[in-house]
Amino acid sequence: MNNLSEFRFIVVGSGFFGAAMAERIATILREPVLVLERRHHLGGNSYSVPDPETGIEIHPYGSHLFHTSSDAVWQWIGRFSRFTHYRHRVFTRYRGRTYTMPINLMTLNTLFGLDLTPEQARGFLAGEAAREPYPDPANLEEKAISLVGRRLYEAFIKGYTAKQWETDPRELPADVITRLPVRLNYNDFYFNDIYEGLPVDGYHAIFDRIFANSLIHAVTNCDFFDVRALLRPDAIVIYTGPIDRYFDYCCGRLSWRTLDFQIERPPVADWQGTAVVNYAEQDVPFTRIHEFRHLHPERRYRCDRTVIMREYSRFATATDEPYYPVNTPADRRIYDQYAALAAQETQVVFGGRLGTYRYLDMHQAIGAALKAFEREVMPLVVPA
Ligand code: UDP
Repeated sequence: MNNLSEFRFIVVGSGFFGAAMAERIATILREPVLVLERRHHLGGNSYSVPDPETGIEIHPYGSHLFHTSSDAVWQWIGRFSRFTHYRHRVFTRYRGRTYTMPINLMTLNTLFGLDLTPEQARGFLAGEAAREPYPDPANLEEKAISLVGRRLYEAFIKGYTAKQWETDPRELPADVITRLPVRLNYNDFYFNDIYEGLPVDGYHAIFDRIFANSLIHAVTNCDFFDVRALLRPDAIVIYTGPIDRYFDYCCGRLSWRTLDFQIERPPVADWQGTAVVNYAEQDVPFTRIHEFRHLHPERRYRCDRTVIMREYSRFATATDEPYYPVNTPADRRIYDQYAALAAQETQVVFGGRLGTYRYLDMHQAIGAALKAFEREVMPLVVPA
């Protein structure tokens, strides 16, 4: 390893925020940058890799679907990979039947045994929501009921959300559920964005290409806190690890959800017929099942086995990987104290899901990094 004290730029964490920052520093500033990654691989939770037994590209941290409406983000990532035309669809199981998700005209008509037109459905949903009005919804439950009414909420949202978060939905922020559109037509694509697809040769290839830049020196299996004392005192640090850990938990611990995954390779060519099936009922212990071969239909995998992965959600302990910020009002109060401390760190830029305690998708992490590079890193190096 090069001498760590040589580097003026340190990026902690190699997920999309850290990767985009390292790439900007190397490409725009033409400065060497050290990337420290605690895990054995680069790419954070976006990492994907061919399964050694079947060759099927698997996403060990859950299916990661790339979608964005930002030209800047799409152009940036397009420099490191071509993308397939994959468009994500999700199905959900409820009381022994399969429905399309997010809630759309087919979901609604199938659940209620109706054959409504879009206009009729609008009236129907307004009637459902009017039974329990929330003119100013303040949390996930009120927001969901104001959108679709209690019956659809209880079928498709309540149980899934209870498993995913184990937090009273009245304690969860409303924006968690506004991630999911409600549609009064038969469009059952999961995302609304202009651009969508999967990297043709997997996410690992994207990270390999980003980190192949000769100015970027990426080190895996290396915890920033173990080597911090060896870095230059005037180093500019891009920190994408958990913000509470950075400040030694002095204002308390932020709460996170973690995921457990159970992989199986059943001896069938197709196990569930699609990439992701959600399980809406609370008494099924997992939230969803991923079947990775469906993410890459263009590869026409020939193997007669498939790879499925059950996903279970629970509160993270101190040693678990954090995945989703729980974001209760108490968490927000703690986070605000850390954000105030972070604002005083003039040589450190906090970013990414862990560094800003935000539920970011990949495209949002990249977009945030491109902006933070311009607004926070450039002013540190270019005198005004
Ligand atoms: N959700 C739900 N039912 C579903 C899928 C999602 O109630 O079948 C809710 C749930 O609260 C979840 C949120 O919508 O946390 C966001 O779902 P999304 O699929 O965006 O979550 P991710 O894929 O990021 O885990």
